[in-house]
Amino acid sequence: MEAIVIGSGFGASVSALRLTQAGIKTLMLEMGKQYEVKPGSKPFTKTLTPDGRSSWLKRKTILPVTSIQFDIPKFVGVLDRVEYPTSYMKIYRGTCLGGGSVVYGAMLPYAQPSLWNEYFPYVDYSEMLSKWYPKVKSVLDFSEVPQDILDSKYYKYARVGLNHCQNAGMQKVMLNAGVDFSIIRNEINGTVEKSSIVGELLYGSNNGFKNSLDRNYIPAAKATGNLTIETLHKVDSIKQLPNGKYELTVFKINEQGETVQIKTYTCTHLFVNAGVVGTMNILLKSKHTGGLPNLSDEIGKHWGNNGNIMAMRANIQEDTGAEQGSVPVTAYGDLNNPVTPLLAEQAPFPIGMELRQLLTLAITKNPNRGYFKYNPTTDNAELFFDKSQMDISRRAMQSFIDRLNTANGGVLEKFWYFNGLGFGDDFTYHPLGGAVLGITSDYFGRLNGYKNLYCLDGSMMPGFSACANPALTIAALAERAMEKIVAEDFT
Ligand SMILES: Cc1cc2nc3c(=O)[nH]c(=O)nc-3n(C[C@H](O)[C@H](O)[C@H](O)COP(=O)(O)OP(=O)(O)OC[C@H]3O[C@@H](n4cnc5c(N)ncnc54)[C@H](O)[C@@H]3O)c2cc1C
Repeated sequence: MEAIVIGSGFGASVSALRLTQAGIKTLMLEMGKQYEVKPGSKPFTKTLTPDGRSSWLKRKTILPVTSIQFDIPKFVGVLDRVEYPTSYMKIYRGTCLGGGSVVYGAMLPYAQPSLWNEYFPYVDYSEMLSKWYPKVKSVLDFSEVPQDILDSKYYKYARVGLNHCQNAGMQKVMLNAGVDFSIIRNEINGTVEKSSIVGELLYGSNNGFKNSLDRNYIPAAKATGNLTIETLHKVDSIKQLPNGKYELTVFKINEQGETVQIKTYTCTHLFVNAGVVGTMNILLKSKHTGGLPNLSDEIGKHWGNNGNIMAMRANIQEDTGAEQGSVPVTAYGDLNNPVTPLLAEQAPFPIGMELRQLLTLAITKNPNRGYFKYNPTTDNAELFFDKSQMDISRRAMQSFIDRLNTANGGVLEKFWYFNGLGFGDDFTYHPLGGAVLGITSDYFGRLNGYKNLYCLDGSMMPGFSACANPALTIAALAERAMEKIVAEDFT
């Protein structure tokens, strides 16, 4: 095979599209299953009545924001939470064709211009705005919420949040959302099956309102005739052969996650884009076991959680809505937070009851970094990140919540989180780093020590996405890299 792409998330889907458009025969290897939305089909499970399709090989669900979980059969579901004995921080990730785009909140803000140069000095922000972000938008469409949808009863919580934001002297932010708002409007009008307005989001959208990669980038790559996709194929490790090609050991698994066949693939160009957890496992194991000994010693390092922290405010002095649209569309800009810059997104809590509570997911500028290390005993790349490394994020969040409560009333709600702090500070949706551009590779993801070996996924990010959710910037930097790689590395 001329090129293999491991994974099918943001970096992988961009890579696959640009390779196949250039006429390069490409194989995509994805460990998860394909969940395809077709007329009349309901591939995804429901948030409040979940089955095995919800979670990756678990016996209980792993919902982030509730102390109530559900028993489920073990299955190759769409959402995983990875826990490490060595780390306070747990990692959520998407585990099906389309990767994180199937489970994500579809928030696609641009990185903050004021923080860009500190983290991404090798690209002009103006170039991101004029070229790379629009290139992603041309395939994976996104836009701000239309006013009629924001005015509907399903976005009362967002409107209350915007008022509170203004009263507390913060900046009101409208988020780009990677969804088809015309489908959401039709849900509200009752002309299509309800999905976003009845709480579907984390486990995928049954009516296709979410512009996930399996509905845009991946089919566009397929349409070239140059892409082959193998799902339920988990890459274990890589070895460079004496002729310079790469040999992959791959486990074909069944829907219960059991290995049914061990396969070997060989290719000339290899893109290790399996998301941070997958990529760290593959690269660190391959380095440790001698398949890729020349990889940089910095692989696994410079990892950050994008400063993710969540909190719920309770005793809000007006209704926030019993029925809440699941796609977050607004945020609080608190870049002048006295502790550290913070952007907080107004998350829904769609459980169908009036709670008078408001949930926020914040992205804080947290300079602390962890690292991954391969453990041969467990055959796993383990994360090291301790609780004290979240101090700055907790303090910033406390300041943010205090100012909102002082201006508007309300208290920090402690019920929903197990650690009793009132903060969801021990998990991240945004794992970033481990194979950072300019440290373990050039600025286009060509890994140091090898030719034709690339990493273009969340691992290439410097632990932080400049106070924004990372998916759009991952995709945009992958677009930038692929233009160069396709032009220069394929003769
Ligand atoms: C619940 C949730 C909500 C989120 N919300 C947002 C949001 O609103 N906005 C935003 O910007 N970001 C959000 N994120 C983060 C976003 O999803 C990630 O930053 C993004 O998906 C990372 O892209 P990636 O290219 O690194 O790969 P991923 O999207 O992580 O995809 C990696 C793929 O590789 C596959 N894989 C892993 N290991 C192997 C292996 N060994 N062999 C083969 N395949 C493998 C996985 O199954 C997966 O499909 C969210 C994440 C989660 C979990």
